Parts: sequence; C-alpha cells; structure tokens
Amino acid sequence: MNTANSVRLFAKARASIPGGVNSPVRACRAVGCDPLFVQKAAGCLITDVDGNTFIDMVSSWGPLILGHAHPEVVAAIRRTAALGTSFGAPSPLEVELAELLCSALPSLDMVRFVNSGTEATMSAIRLARAHTGRNIVVKFDGCYHGHADSFLVRAGSGLITLGIPGSPGVPDDIVKNTVSIPYNDIPTFKATLGERGGEIACVIVEPVAGNMGVVLPEPGFLETLRTETAARGIVLIFDEVITGFRLAYGGAQTRFGIEPDLTTLGKIIGGGLPVAAYGGKQALMNKVAPEGPVYQAGTLSGNPLAMAAGITMLKLLHEPGFYEELEAKANRLADGLAERAQAAGVPLTLNRIGSMMTCFFSRGPVRDYNSAMTANTDMYARHYRSMLADGIWLGPSQFEAFFLSAAHEERHLQKILDAAERSFRNLMH
Ligand code: PLP
Repeated sequence: MNTANSVRLFAKARASIPGGVNSPVRACRAVGCDPLFVQKAAGCLITDVDGNTFIDMVSSWGPLILGHAHPEVVAAIRRTAALGTSFGAPSPLEVELAELLCSALPSLDMVRFVNSGTEATMSAIRLARAHTGRNIVVKFDGCYHGHADSFLVRAGSGLITLGIPGSPGVPDDIVKNTVSIPYNDIPTFKATLGERGGEIACVIVEPVAGNMGVVLPEPGFLETLRTETAARGIVLIFDEVITGFRLAYGGAQTRFGIEPDLTTLGKIIGGGLPVAAYGGKQALMNKVAPEGPVYQAGTLSGNPLAMAAGITMLKLLHEPGFYEELEAKANRLADGLAERAQAAGVPLTLNRIGSMMTCFFSRGPVRDYNSAMTANTDMYARHYRSMLADGIWLGPSQFEAFFLSAAHEERHLQKILDAAERSFRNLMH
C-alpha cells in the first residue's frame, strides 16, 4: 500500500501537534502503525490522502450511525451555514433538538447542550454534587467518561490503550473524591455504598461499557445501581455518550428499562458535529444557571450547524425498522466473525449488543476491566494490520468497539468476513 502522503503529513504534524494527533489513540501506537491521514469519506468508505479506500468500522468512534456524509445531514448543515454559523444567542434549532431528546428518553424533561462528552459528564457531576451537597463520585474501572480530572482514575479508552493508570497534572485532592470499583461487581458496589453512602454525590456508569471494549451489564447490575442509589439519595448518571441513539432510539435506558436521574449524551446527537448534552428531570435541571445556582456555560453551545445535523440525524433514526435492520446486520457480522475464528482456532470472545461489538482475542468471558486486560493485544495488533492491508479500517486498539452503520451493506459485511477469515488463518501460523 502506498502511504507516502500520510507519512509526509505525519512527520509535519508531529512538529506542530503533540504526537501528530489531536486525540491519543489516533496515533495508532498500540497496533504498531503510523496513522493514515484521511482525505474524505462517504457512506461506510473512508479514503486516505494516498487514495487508498477502506471499509470503516470506527464510524468516527460512534457518531456516524448513518455512515459518512449522509446527503440529508450534509444538506441540513449547508442550509443552516448559509444563515450564519454561530449567534451567541438562543435560536430555534436548539429548542427543536432539545424537544427531540426529551421525547426520546423518558428520563429527560430538560437538557442542556454542550460541545463534547467530556463537558457533559463534567457538568453532570457538578450538578449532582450541588444537589446532594456531597463530593464523592463513584465510577467503574475501565469506563471512560471523558478527560476531566475527576474521571482519570482507572479509566478506559486511550488510557488503557496506552497503559497509563491516570494522568500527571490531575491533583490528588481531586482524585481522592473519585472511587473506582469493578464493573458488574454487585457485592463491591453494595459494600462501597454501605461504607461511604453518606458522602457519595453520584454513581456514573456506561450502561453498556464501550471503552474497555464492549462489556455488557450482567443481569441485575444496572437494577442494583438504580435501587441502591435511590435508597440513599445518590444521583445515578447514565453516561450514554456512546449508547444514546445507538442501542435504541431511547438509548440503553430504554433497552434495559431503567431510568437514571441524569443522562449524558453526545456522538450521535450531533450527527458528526461537536455536540453533547446532559439532562434529567426538571427539579434537578432547574438547578442549572440561570434558573439555579450551578454554573455552566459555553460560547458555541447549541451551535446551529450541530443542532441542524443532530435534528436531521434523529429524524432519520426514528423511521420504523431502523434499529431492527441495523441489529440484524450486526448479528450476521458477529456470527460470521465468531464462526471464522472458531474454524481457524483463534481464541475470540465476541461481545456485542445492537450495532456495537468488540472481538477480544481472549478465551473470555470478558465481563470487567480485569478480564478485558487478559486479551492478547499483540494478536489484535497483527489482526489490525492484516485487516488494514485488506481494506478494512478497524479501531487501532483492542479496547475499543466497532460501530456498524446503516451504510454498511451486505457486500461490505462479506468483505469484512473474507478479510477476517484470512487474518485469523494467518494469526495461527
Ligand atoms: N463518555 C463516553 C462513554 C465516551 O465514550 C466518551 C468518548 O469517547 C466521552 C464520554 C467523552 O466524550 P468526548 O470525547 O466528546 O469528550
């Protein structure tokens, strides 16, 4: 594969951007490659600056559930841009998207728009602390809630990929207020609440973990979080930045039938533009400024281009049968991958729900951070390179999800399966 233009750009980028990238996992270090620079993308295809085209399984880390450059989303952005790109004042599109979100998720009466998932989770814990007058945040090992100081404790995503436990620059005084415990571990959760319940402001969880690879909640786990937090006046936050509008129109909370007190959303709700939100019931959300005292703001919050993209996206997702069709495709892909791994004798644990999945190179089961860590990352790196050479663009880390989009057609799935079959066979030689 000719990658001369990417090589040249990467060398230039490293001089002006740390590591040559604007988010660490993009540097592809965990899979022993240099990054390919992207020229353009359409549907499920992504093309680099040397003209190589790949079937994209990353979908911009989740937002592009309709594929890249969906014509209706692009048209909405164009129409809106012609009227101005930012006003610093309220505009009608914000109200429309807020109403769409509140009608999709039963736990939401109100939402506040921000610009990234990190801002959403950071603001949600501030609100929870203000509401309860307590400081402690309970999170789960391997869950990632963005890069705000309070969350960089045994976090997932890039931190696992790079093998770093936290980050310098985060004061001990901040992380002493974060308690991180194993995912799916009901006894430890109950013990933590039993010991420190009176100090705990909130419990934040990815209802399906997507940032240590996909890890599903075991039966009873989310239910226990709900009942135990409610009993102690602790705010339960579902971080649905990935799962919102991915696992169902109403997110994981609708799929599992559990209502959190606060929800964070991002990725899909911006149709590929930078937007996120946090929301909940009116009594809680009315504590946010200017209605209440909890300060949170943003120059570009509610940006019209992002609102227009999000509204268009959500309307398309609301079409009858959308999620059923996507799920059926994901099911076929997952079954095909599992069959091929088994035939080649590759130890593979495939965790999937809806259109998100991870192939762990491990005998499994993978149910938490420690079991995710048993995956063979060297094997994943070899698989990644083989798939890339065969025209398939995977996430450059074992501990990330693949995201299928409506733009993946049967012929693309077949190409992915053929490439995986070759890769699995080679891995065993
Ligand atoms: N929460 C979850 C569950 C995420 O997966 C992410 C990002 O991947 C975030 C929060 C942070 O979002 P952002 O990268 O937009 O700051």
